[in-house]
Amino acid sequence: MAGHILIVEDEHKIAVLLQDYLEKAGYSATVLNRGDQVLGRIKRNPPDLMLLDIMLPGMDGVEVCRETRKFSTVPIIMITAKVEELDRLIGLELGADDYICKPFSPREVVARVKAVLRRTHPEPAGKQLAVGPLVLDENTYQVKVRGSELDLTPSEFRLLQVLMSKPGRVFPRDELLVRAQGYDCEGYDRTIDSHIKNLRKKIALHLPDHEVIHTVYGVGYKLSVSN
Ligand code: CA
Repeated sequence: MAGHILIVEDEHKIAVLLQDYLEKAGYSATVLNRGDQVLGRIKRNPPDLMLLDIMLPGMDGVEVCRETRKFSTVPIIMITAKVEELDRLIGLELGADDYICKPFSPREVVARVKAVLRRTHPEPAGKQLAVGPLVLDENTYQVKVRGSELDLTPSEFRLLQVLMSKPGRVFPRDELLVRAQGYDCEGYDRTIDSHIKNLRKKIALHLPDHEVIHTVYGVGYKLSVSN
């Protein structure tokens, strides 16, 4: 599935390298080197996916992502130079679809682009998953708890989707990372812990009397609903 990728990166070498690899993989790619050029560009000519660096002249990537989400659902992969910044970025709930840490290999980036495009252009025959009071609709990307819709980020949705696909099964952290994110910065299991924390909070708003996502110490997480 080819598409047009917008690369927003002010480091010329990295931008050209990414463009090169993406073009070899069959995508077309455009580079912008300033954050303040992005919004106009997306409005005029929306790409199929945007690779967005955080540190940019003009407007930083966080602001660009936030502003873009006000009018566009274009898939966004954010690029950060600091692993430590991931938690903060995820916590901001910017609506990005994935995060990549520098340094990265261009092949990894291409794989992530493919994974995000697959997820965001899903197969049409989705279905509904229901576990206790939770109902997840793969067609509409909605999750309802006792009839109330949850406001989830794309990563949280996919995480819940994986957990709900096999209630009671313990999913190791690294497997959740791969299934929910494509894959992530090596060894960065705490990404999943942050997503789980947010997910629990959101579910608890509607289900204060139930523990739905259970921690299995030293292993990972499982979903089960007791009545
Ligand atoms: Ca930069």
